[in-house]
Amino acid sequence: GREVRLAARPQGWPTAETFEIAEVTVGDPAPGQVVVRNLFMSVDPYMRGRMDDVKSYMPPFAVGAALDGSAVGEVVASAAEAVPVGATVLHGLGWREFAVLDGAKVRVVDPKAAPTLSAYLGVLGMTGLTAYVGLLDIAQFKEGDTVFVSGAAGAVGSIAGQIARLRGAKRVIGSAGSAEKVAHLTGDLGFDAAFNYRDAPVRKQLRAAAPDGIDVYFDNVGGDHLEAAIGSLNKYGRVALCGMIAQYNDTEPPAAPRNLAVAIGKELNLRGYIVNNHGHRMPAFAADMAGWLREGKIAWQETVVDGGIEKAPGAFLGLLRGENTGKMVVRLTE
Ligand code: NDP
Repeated sequence: GREVRLAARPQGWPTAETFEIAEVTVGDPAPGQVVVRNLFMSVDPYMRGRMDDVKSYMPPFAVGAALDGSAVGEVVASAAEAVPVGATVLHGLGWREFAVLDGAKVRVVDPKAAPTLSAYLGVLGMTGLTAYVGLLDIAQFKEGDTVFVSGAAGAVGSIAGQIARLRGAKRVIGSAGSAEKVAHLTGDLGFDAAFNYRDAPVRKQLRAAAPDGIDVYFDNVGGDHLEAAIGSLNKYGRVALCGMIAQYNDTEPPAAPRNLAVAIGKELNLRGYIVNNHGHRMPAFAADMAGWLREGKIAWQETVVDGGIEKAPGAFLGLLRGENTGKMVVRLTE
């Protein structure tokens, strides 16, 4: 099988030269192990941080070694009692056609319980949970709040905005990077207002969309978006610092936000989080999300990249450029 390795650490934006594809021999599973044929793999913005040689909440990728990330696949060989051949499993060794790993490190899922297998990587998986935890626990959303979500047409943002609407937001505003995405937010996802951040300064567009201010900001972008939100937040406003994708490829510190001192007088609460540390919320999230999906209350879209493992680097670069709407995944099989 083939795998994608980190060929060189990127300076600024990654390029095709950041990656290399290698052929590896897949052996029989050792006692306790399983061999999984990956069907779908996730591409995620946080991977950019792991390409740098810096200490963070996750260790950096090693140059010359395979990348990893969430994947869903089928067990093709098993030496682990609890995980039979044929089981559909979720695990952390994407970026390769075949994963060999400990049976205890995979989660067996019911393929019939999901609308598509790839949904386990998005709306029913990590990105869905990120939206749920960020909005409800970190930003302490409550009924009647006016909510602003950046990166709103992406995997996390699209779900965060819809949960706010379902839980009784007064008004939900989203930003995204194209006219099509803006139309998708108000047309398909039920946002009350949306704007293209490339059209005019975020500060002005947010003011116009939320003349009475906002109570919650779900931040996927950072920079000028965060600065604009700080300016528009009402007293006791709350911010979930989920991601700051606008600066992941920067080689210099960001220029914004410049108005953080405003947070003092407004008594704002800005709080970061890492979804991996909120796994205890998975059962509540899974139950709520299953209900919303069953009742048709949540719209979700995926951008599925076809063509196998060699398309994974391009899919990752495309994600950073905004080529996806909803969760971006790579299909590894025909
Ligand atoms: P998305 O599906 O949102 O894809 C990334 C999107 O970011 C692109 O589609 C693009 O949309 C947007 N984008 C790229 N560059 C910029 C920019 N300079 N300014 C504004 N938008 C930009 O990815 P995810 O939903 O997986 O992740 C969203 C955010 O959540 C990321 O910041 C990620 O790091 C974070 N995250 C945090 C987690 C946590 O535990 N805290 C867990 C998972 C994700 P557009 O066309 O609109 O520009």
